Amino acid sequence: MSTSPRTAAIIVAAGRGLRAGAGGPKQYRTLAGRPVIARSLLPFCSHPEIFAVQPVTNPDDTALFNEAVAGLNFRPAVGGGATRQASVRAGLEALADLAPDIVLIHDAARPFVTPALISRAIIAAGKTGAALPVVAIADTVKQINAASEVEATPDRATLRIAQTPQAFRFDVILDAHRRAARDGRDDFTDDAAIAEWAGLTVATFEGDAANMKLTTPDDFAREESRLTALLGDIRTGTGYDVHAFGEGDHVWLCGLKVPHNRGFLAHSDGDVGLHALVDAILGALADGDIGSHFPPTDPQWKGAASDKFLKYAVDRVAARGGRIANLEVTMICERPKIGPLRDPMRQRIAEITGVPVSRVAVKATTSERLGFTGREEGIAATASATIRLPWGADGLAS
Ligand code: MG
Repeated sequence: MSTSPRTAAIIVAAGRGLRAGAGGPKQYRTLAGRPVIARSLLPFCSHPEIFAVQPVTNPDDTALFNEAVAGLNFRPAVGGGATRQASVRAGLEALADLAPDIVLIHDAARPFVTPALISRAIIAAGKTGAALPVVAIADTVKQINAASEVEATPDRATLRIAQTPQAFRFDVILDAHRRAARDGRDDFTDDAAIAEWAGLTVATFEGDAANMKLTTPDDFAREESRLTALLGDIRTGTGYDVHAFGEGDHVWLCGLKVPHNRGFLAHSDGDVGLHALVDAILGALADGDIGSHFPPTDPQWKGAASDKFLKYAVDRVAARGGRIANLEVTMICERPKIGPLRDPMRQRIAEITGVPVSRVAVKATTSERLGFTGREEGIAATASATIRLPWGADGLAS
């Protein structure tokens, strides 16, 4: 029989995050190009000592949640309750059949949790049965009354800031939550407080000052600029593509189906704009070209919609921990006229890539009736992409 504890984790994501300002629940907003909740979940999903990750969400957010966490591996989300406490209890009940030895309970609004902090939590719960990560307080703390007058100055050496993940023996915290619910207590703001109420001794372990909770719009702005500054390795790439006209009544351009008196002769849908963008992104990554990733000899790409190729290139950037700073494409043709399509094309590229539309440019030019584009034998497109990667990914010092 294995001696290492079976550890599960609950990620609490049912809150509305009202203090974070406009823009929907804060856990689904992006921070430096990645949703907060994806950042919070990943360290648990990829931790070798955690066998089950149980998200708790608000059922109203199902679509937001599914989009934000695509590709991560966890148990189906359960619906939360009216309070944080009720949501955690729903997560515990959902794990009851698995009977883990230890459970970690973490707030989705803390996206900077590290594998090392998770490991410390598991060790602390194994030793003590109930423990939470804490950090010391640098500032003097005042206790005030209703008139905002100072009543006392507590000794800050005895005070700590509580964080998550809080860690417990599963049966003990489940029992404490059930008793609290039975007694009509629904006002606990963290799980350590429920354990205290239930009469357990709660130990502390070393937290992490970087493991802050995103709460206000200022928190988002500050962390966004901090994370963006870390992506200082800036690369650019260019792309070029041509497709010839053939029989048909429409062409695909920058992800839009455009009525035309010709079609494209192409293995895929022939979307020159998207193909040029794919090559620009792959070029910025120094990662081959569209033909090396999607060989025209491979039958699976016959007639393929090119948004797939573009999404693939974007995912290659994300896999390197990077993000796209801007995308630009220039269509070279006499017809169809691109001007009226410019903004819908920008929208469509933004939709496919997740890059804000303010960072997507579509331009158009003719070739003054010269050459193959001038004779309307086909359409050409050029593109450029600028991407930001983390320093040090391939041996360059910052
Ligand atoms: Mg092509």
